[in-house]
Amino acid sequence: MEKLMEISHVSYSYHTLEGETPALTNINFTVHKGDFLSIVGPSGCGKSTLLSLLTGLIEPEHGSILLYGQKLFEKGRGTIGYMLQHDHLFEWRTIEKNVLLGLEIQNRLTPENQEKVMDMLKRYGLYKFKDARPSQLSGGMRQRAALIRTLALEPELLLLDEPFSALDYQTRLTVGDDIGSIIKKEQKTAILVTHDLSEAVSLGNQVLVLSKRPATIKSIVPINFSDTMTPLQRRNAPEFKDYFNTIWKELNSDD
Ligand code: ADP
Ligand code: MG
Repeated sequence: MEKLMEISHVSYSYHTLEGETPALTNINFTVHKGDFLSIVGPSGCGKSTLLSLLTGLIEPEHGSILLYGQKLFEKGRGTIGYMLQHDHLFEWRTIEKNVLLGLEIQNRLTPENQEKVMDMLKRYGLYKFKDARPSQLSGGMRQRAALIRTLALEPELLLLDEPFSALDYQTRLTVGDDIGSIIKKEQKTAILVTHDLSEAVSLGNQVLVLSKRPATIKSIVPINFSDTMTPLQRRNAPEFKDYFNTIWKELNSDD
């Protein structure tokens, strides 16, 4: 598979009046096209910092991040989509106006692009809510709308920062399934940050395990399920608990 992003020897510290907070130390990994990489690690270890680096919001202190072999900063924005815990849908806009917002801001609201987005709303069951306001939708539907808004910009890489953690457990399972299936259907490359090991295993084809702050990579665990399995089906597969236990042990090991 084609190399999409290459992260080499990346370190990062925050500098504030109180002093220096090292967040990441010597991070190395490669993302190939079509990968779904899950990242797990203890709370506060530097996961969100890592995603901010991958979007180009902040620049590494040491090391490099290459997107298709080019420095991220030179390649420019727009190729990377970001989805967060809170969906940031605007209540004063309808769902249709919300999912078109990114295209509007980037001056890319052509009839063709608009049609593509309307088509996604139809395929993913939101078309009949296009004139509704975000507050009229369930938490899961809102996350789906947020995903469609992100996909509208046709990003090369999707970064998801604990996107399901504001949802209750039951909803999280179905929304995780839903969002995972959409990303697969749209043949996107994704990186998901989560503190939920089950979620990481149910969605990823690799799980990257981070140490406590400053984060280093403890291990990268390959996950192999049959290609046709949905995240929920994976949860019921016999191998699931073995993967879970492997990652649990990695997370809690001292070295
Ligand atoms: P995670 O997402 O894994 O919970 P973060 O990447 O958000 O962790 O944070 C890693 C560490 O960096 C934490 O100790 C946090 O307090 C610190 N940190 C995060 N953002 C900033 C910032 N803007 N300024 C100073 N310190 C920060
Ligand atoms: Mg975080």
